Amino acid sequence: MALHTVNPGGKDGQYSDEYTQEVSLKGLPKFKMGEKSNDSATIRDLILDELLLDGNAKQNLSTFCQTDVDQDLHIIMDKCINKNMIDKDEYPQTAEIEERCVHILADLWNSPQAATTLGCSTTGSSEAAMLGGLALKWKWREKMKKAGKPTDKPNIVTGPVQVCWEKFARYFDVEIRQIPMEHGRLLMTPEEVLKRVDENTIGVVPTLGVTFTLQYENVQEIHDCLDKLQKDTGLDIPIHVDGASGGFLAPFIQKDLVWDFRLPRVKSINTSGHKFGLSPIGVGWVIWREKSDLPEDLIFNVNYLGGNMPTFALNFSKPGGQIIAQYHNFLTHGKEGYTKIQQACSDHGQYIAQEIKKMGLFNILYDGKGGVPGACWVIKDGVDPGFTLFDLTDRLRVRGWQVASYTLPSNCEDMVVQRVLIRHGFSRDMADLLLDDLKRAIDYFQKHPVSVPLSKEEGSSFHH
Ligand SMILES: *Cc1c(COP(=O)(O)O)cnc(C)c1O
Repeated sequence: MALHTVNPGGKDGQYSDEYTQEVSLKGLPKFKMGEKSNDSATIRDLILDELLLDGNAKQNLSTFCQTDVDQDLHIIMDKCINKNMIDKDEYPQTAEIEERCVHILADLWNSPQAATTLGCSTTGSSEAAMLGGLALKWKWREKMKKAGKPTDKPNIVTGPVQVCWEKFARYFDVEIRQIPMEHGRLLMTPEEVLKRVDENTIGVVPTLGVTFTLQYENVQEIHDCLDKLQKDTGLDIPIHVDGASGGFLAPFIQKDLVWDFRLPRVKSINTSGHKFGLSPIGVGWVIWREKSDLPEDLIFNVNYLGGNMPTFALNFSKPGGQIIAQYHNFLTHGKEGYTKIQQACSDHGQYIAQEIKKMGLFNILYDGKGGVPGACWVIKDGVDPGFTLFDLTDRLRVRGWQVASYTLPSNCEDMVVQRVLIRHGFSRDMADLLLDDLKRAIDYFQKHPVSVPLSKEEGSSFHH
């Protein structure tokens, strides 16, 4: 990876080589800034050398994030490296392109006011979730104040959510009523939602692509049960959909699924541009159904960059290149391209699930159909293969694969799941390479049994 220049900073024809310089011989400063300056190319290469120890992004089947970035996106990111998204005065066209992306997404998600509604880019779904949650909280408080009711105990009802919703709840002082998983029911259901909602519920958050299992929660069912609740009790509870993955999948490969602004109760949706939006890391989106669903109170007007500009975001300065890259993706892939790409990923996920099932040791928890491209499985009940899924994760890493194993959240903590995500940049050949390595790892454990299997603490791998 190092570009390795001989004679970097070489003075007066003196022999010099990056790897014979003092900094290469003694090591990079780690806790204090050095007194002397160094040759830039040498430092670049030493840092790139160190980064070789990071995983190989293409073989990382644990992350939802897009890791395959084509040449044109590199060019765009390079040209846009100095663009500051917040500075709409200096970079009005970047702001204009952000707006176009907002309306393209609003249209993709069937907003009745796609051309005029509000939305914004964020650094990812986490920030987008904070903004969506805040809007729900503000709307709820407005409603309660009008009714002369107390506003000190807001709650939000979710299924097994990504950690960003737990953060939202804690940071912004909202009680989270998370529906626990049960054996045989891993997603939210209307009955479980109805048990938890009351007049202090700011909203219900179904997830389109649950982190732990990749399945979609049924937004339509939740919507309908809340309609019935309103008919019976007068309680009018809005929905925010966490479409971190699904927002960029369902419109293309699950066209018949009704989950978006076609459902009137769905007031806002977030998605990650850097997941199945196919953009480089650092972009997410939140869109409101109609302009009036975003409380004006949350929009700040600042004049210190020249013009008068409205801002609604947790960050101030942030990079603009990811947004331009998103627009580039919309234009180059179009609906046709997104559909082909996501379908290919979904097909690879289904293939992997089928092949893993044939191995006989595993129960398929998600077969790759109907949700996020990928698959997940558990070790069959009553089978003791002589290794844990954590051991298998560990062994696959020898060949560079990153495959997450983790325990499910409560009340299914006793279940260990192994999961792969399939993203753009993956092929049938890669699927076969992975499956071969998986079989090889299992054979290896049969010949060399694990004496003390890895526990969940030792083996747990990060999952997003
Ligand atoms: C990834 C993910 C998030 C967080 O998104 P970031 O873009 O990483 O901030 C939130 N919710 C779900 C369902 C996710 O998959």
